[in-house]
Amino acid sequence: MSDASTQPAYKIIDHTYDTVVVGAGGSGLRATMGSAEAGLKTACITKVFPTRSHTVAAQGGIAASLGNNTPDHWQWHMYDTVKGSDWLGDQDAIEYMVREAPHAVYELEHAGVPFSRNQDGTIYQRPFGGHMQNMGEGPPVQRTCAAADRTGHAMLHALYQQSLKYDADFFIEYFAIDLIMNNGKCVGVIAICLDDGSIHRFRAQAVVLATGGYGRTYFTCTSAHTCTGDGGGMVLRAGLPLQDMEFVQFHPTGIYGAGVLITEGARGEGGYLTNSEGERFMERYAPSAKDLASRDVVSRSMALEIREGRGVGDHQDHIYLHLDHIDPKVLAERLPGITESGKIFAGVDLTRQPLPVVPTVHYNMGGIPTNYHGEVVTIGADGNPETVVPGLFAVGEAACVSVHGANRLGSNSLIDLVVFGRATGHRLKEIVKAGAAQDELPKDSADMALGRLDHFRNANGGSPTAKIRTDMQRAMSAHAAVFRTDELMAEGKVKLAEIYKSMEDISVTDKSLIWNSDLIETLELDNLISQASVTMHSAHNRKESRGAHAHEDYPDRNDAEWMKHTAVWFEGWGGKGGDIRIDYRPVHDFTLTEDAKYIEPKKRVY
Ligand SMILES: Cc1cc2nc3c(=O)[nH]c(=O)nc-3n(C[C@H](O)[C@H](O)[C@H](O)COP(=O)(O)OP(=O)(O)OC[C@H]3O[C@@H](n4cnc5c(N)ncnc54)[C@H](O)[C@@H]3O)c2cc1C
Repeated sequence: MSDASTQPAYKIIDHTYDTVVVGAGGSGLRATMGSAEAGLKTACITKVFPTRSHTVAAQGGIAASLGNNTPDHWQWHMYDTVKGSDWLGDQDAIEYMVREAPHAVYELEHAGVPFSRNQDGTIYQRPFGGHMQNMGEGPPVQRTCAAADRTGHAMLHALYQQSLKYDADFFIEYFAIDLIMNNGKCVGVIAICLDDGSIHRFRAQAVVLATGGYGRTYFTCTSAHTCTGDGGGMVLRAGLPLQDMEFVQFHPTGIYGAGVLITEGARGEGGYLTNSEGERFMERYAPSAKDLASRDVVSRSMALEIREGRGVGDHQDHIYLHLDHIDPKVLAERLPGITESGKIFAGVDLTRQPLPVVPTVHYNMGGIPTNYHGEVVTIGADGNPETVVPGLFAVGEAACVSVHGANRLGSNSLIDLVVFGRATGHRLKEIVKAGAAQDELPKDSADMALGRLDHFRNANGGSPTAKIRTDMQRAMSAHAAVFRTDELMAEGKVKLAEIYKSMEDISVTDKSLIWNSDLIETLELDNLISQASVTMHSAHNRKESRGAHAHEDYPDRNDAEWMKHTAVWFEGWGGKGGDIRIDYRPVHDFTLTEDAKYIEPKKRVY
């Protein structure tokens, strides 16, 4: 890194905190609360107003084995999550999540989340894909707690209100650019205030990345435009690996054309899919769970129906979702939001017409590798794959704990956010000492962030950010979709390398520092494109099919060779051309306590 004096003169405002959390979605707010509650001086930095984080859009609900509507047990939840992950999830972390889940839901209830209710006043729970009774044997269990179809909205608002009660400082509409690393330790973060362009350097004993997923690497996705995986980009630039990036979840029911989500709760409440022959085809693919099979299974079945010429519409390129047989009163009570979305985005009256849907990018199973305390881990110089990166934590969709493995079950993300947000708070309480003296920051602490900022701000090439972004999104949608082949992914790698190269010719027209969305979108694109590249390379590298990674040349799961996490590094900055390095971390095939038995791998059928 160059000397600080070579950097252009940006005025830097310095702050010192015990903990800095980047992100104010469900996971970031829960971690912020935990840190502040532990008496630590805590800052939460967020590029959007907290209640605009993508968590607000979550519809269907949050999983916990309360057993209010059907019998349930945390061990059943654990079984379903391990099976859903196609045996790539870490069983110690999964045990932790499902055991803490009921507690976390009651905590939300007491924090003011207005859950839908049963007649007897208990929290109403609906069925969701892949959640079953009796260690996977069935019938489906009702495990997903919901506030109608606006669960994330209710949750995020309650969490934000709660977090205001603690003494945390919020830096709202601040964009975090890069981590400050010192000898392998994270010691802070650099951010820009979007409003006036001032640069803020946060020194901290611990930094928590809660920046969400990177769905916007694809052309059509259900996630917000702000889901650009900024935390993952920062981690790659810090020379640390990301994990299991090849596993990208396609949700079966995005509205055709618009990509807007129709919750799995729609099928939970009795909705079903049909092809152009009016056939309920899921009965063929998943005789037992049918339309409530796991998401990867349903998405692949839909893609096959379309490929074999049984898609609906003028181009036979989508599928119908039926809710028209459900009592309109039930729709109005339990699925009001999607009834509205159907009208607005597809022009369809759900109570009378089927909805055109298609599998749409929805969730990133991969992310920043952590243990179940939220601590970021890497493969150390001595080869230890559980080496903790001091000072750095990650939670939520940005993280890969890994509880979702190769495929996440619906309603298991919201529970992941609060369980591991809270666990991170506990860990911070143990290892961070309130107000402890901190070392001086290294001289070059702002160099990388300001160097990149200044470079892009003055970029005068011939390729606008939006063009490069669209090229990348189209390449991802064409070369790393529901079904993948060696040839397709090899081409995808070449295309992405060319697109990465075109970043050298980028142009940013707005040179100001006041609400410069052109510049911020360029920094976001820089984060996206590194993650698109490692996703494509990790996918091409994995020669098997597991969970969301359906490799047509290797259609079977291969536990002997591939039951391991991919760790991937991107060595692309500073004119290095975007080289990628891959290594592996072992899957945790042990549980946390003796109450939970290791769940042996089996063939995954629904
Ligand atoms: C439409 C939709 C519906 C869903 N429904 C469900 C559901 O019903 N059940 C379920 O379990 N899961 C659902 N999911 C998945 C789940 O909602 C998400 O995985 C989860 O909300 C992600 O939360 P998060 O806290 O990790 O991040 P987000 O909620 O995405 O928040 C990210 C935060 O990071 C901040 N940030 C990002 N980058 C920067 C930066 N550079 N500088 C400063 N701040 C930054 C943002 O401002 C934001 O506050 C759904 C997802 C979508 C897209």
